Amino acid sequence: MSLFEHPEFADHQQVSFFSDQASGLKAVIAVHNTNLGPALGGCRMWNYASSAEALNDVLRLSKGMTYKAAMAELKLGGGKSVIIGDPRTQKSPAMMEAMGRCVESFMGNYITAEDSGISVDDLKLMEKHSQNIAGTRANYSYDGGESDGNPAPSTAYGVFVGLKASVAHRLNRNLKGVKVAIQGLGHVGYRLAKHLHSEGAELFVTDIFPDNLDKAATELGAKIVDPKDIFSQDVDVFAPCALGASINEETIPLLKASVIAGAANNQLAFEHLGGELAKRDILYAPDYVINAGGVIDIYHQRMDSDATALRAHIERIGVTLNEIYERAGAENKATNNVANAIAEERFGLN
Ligand code: NAD
Repeated sequence: MSLFEHPEFADHQQVSFFSDQASGLKAVIAVHNTNLGPALGGCRMWNYASSAEALNDVLRLSKGMTYKAAMAELKLGGGKSVIIGDPRTQKSPAMMEAMGRCVESFMGNYITAEDSGISVDDLKLMEKHSQNIAGTRANYSYDGGESDGNPAPSTAYGVFVGLKASVAHRLNRNLKGVKVAIQGLGHVGYRLAKHLHSEGAELFVTDIFPDNLDKAATELGAKIVDPKDIFSQDVDVFAPCALGASINEETIPLLKASVIAGAANNQLAFEHLGGELAKRDILYAPDYVINAGGVIDIYHQRMDSDATALRAHIERIGVTLNEIYERAGAENKATNNVANAIAEERFGLN
């Protein structure tokens, strides 16, 4: 297994491999870039088929965090950690404590948080041995209310702000009467639907589970759509808030929306599809820019900050998207490529 020659290596500053025989921990921590500040990125526990697969994942995700932090104007770099194993059967408190010691060995250069397979309780065990665990508590919500620590409200608010800015840019109108199709009514999607409803948008929603669908119909007047039909709705905006890769060769020709703005990570099945969207005059809000509200929340909860500063920071997502759109228009480039270029300028690659 190569490292420096690895296709995802991307000039990582540090990649460390950990093994703790007593607890069975096998983990990799990757720090991609710390030019803007210590590397932040969640810890994922996954039953990887091989250590090569784990390495691939951690390198790809760690690099992504550098771009996300730079575009969110955070004094943070990008990193990530993965634990190899099935979180349902192989996780133990001793393993989480061992992971805390691994994180601490970076002496603040890497800060971890929640990701798939890792819960807040797991982070609290890590915290016994490390100062550098984020997302274990929250003092306030962006709207001044109480917070249970879940970053989804901040993510949803950021997507709402970004969607509104995208509609203003592309359609030159506010949200009243704008038709939005939301794919996935989970933690972020449902909250986004509520924000949009409060500004007069007309909603078309889908999910593979019924939990929130009826509520959206009765409380928000949303029209329920079959999951396979969500792409072809006659709407202004498509908001992917479920899983990644929903924008692909099969779905792009179905889209009638002229704006794509949603919370899901890795929305484009392939980077080159950003160009395909631009060709069709569909304005794409780069996913890692518009869904950064959660990471902005985590940053503020760790700093000596407050709800007003957090909210103002989340609202900068709209400003950043406009900067991307202006430049994409002026340079005749796809918005995802422009976002990457701006991020690289900010963290000093170019
Ligand atoms: P979630 O699991 O609460 O919600 C996702 C919803 O999508 C679920 O209700 C699920 O049933 C539904 N879904 C899955 N496949 C579907 C399909 N094919 N068609 C229709 N619906 C489908 O997750 P979430 O926290 O709301 O996050 C949504 C997306 O946003 C994810 O891609 C996540 O990675 C991304 N994201 C979330 C946050 C956050 O703060 N929660 C931050 C950044 C990015």
